[in-house]
Amino acid sequence: MGKTIAIYPGSFDPVTRGHMDIIERASKTVDHLIVGVLVNSAKSPLFTVEERVALLKQVTAQYPNVEIRSFEGLLVDFARASGAHILIRGLRAVTDFEYELQMSQTNHKLSPNVETMFLTTSIEYSYLSSTTVREIAAFGGDVTQFVPQAVAVELEKKMKSTRKKKESVTDE
Ligand code: ADP
Repeated sequence: MGKTIAIYPGSFDPVTRGHMDIIERASKTVDHLIVGVLVNSAKSPLFTVEERVALLKQVTAQYPNVEIRSFEGLLVDFARASGAHILIRGLRAVTDFEYELQMSQTNHKLSPNVETMFLTTSIEYSYLSSTTVREIAAFGGDVTQFVPQAVAVELEKKMKSTRKKKESVTDE
């Protein structure tokens, strides 16, 4: 049998300890794990795709079989081009279920060779989302328990620069 290659896709805006938990556990289960960072032009992300990729590279450096790449377009096309037959997704609560079920069934229809595998979240991170982290940071809250240290540092810098931009707009 060949090497098992899996893709863990997402926005990772920014990567949280919940994502890290899934990355760590998935990397132990497959030979090679590609974390696919979605270039999503519809959403306006806080971190650019280059910043999200750089942060992920930094915080996953300790896992030799984890690779970080960005992708555009259909996930199944990215999977095919990468030689991956497995998609990894995290399931936090029942609220994730309907959307994830729809996505996995659609992807399976589009590419019958691709299987989605779900990892259920570790209890301590089941409430955690990138959206919550961005909101806490925007109001100057402490995010260190929710994200890796390097991410907390970058979030603080980001918030400072957006505050400065806002101030200069209101000054004019
Ligand atoms: P998307 O925009 O595709 O939802 P996210 O970056 O928010 O991207 O999430 C990517 C994947 O990580 C999804 O499968 C999501 O369910 C999972 N995930 C997000 N937060 C957590 C968490 N706290 N614990 C486990 N999995 C999570």
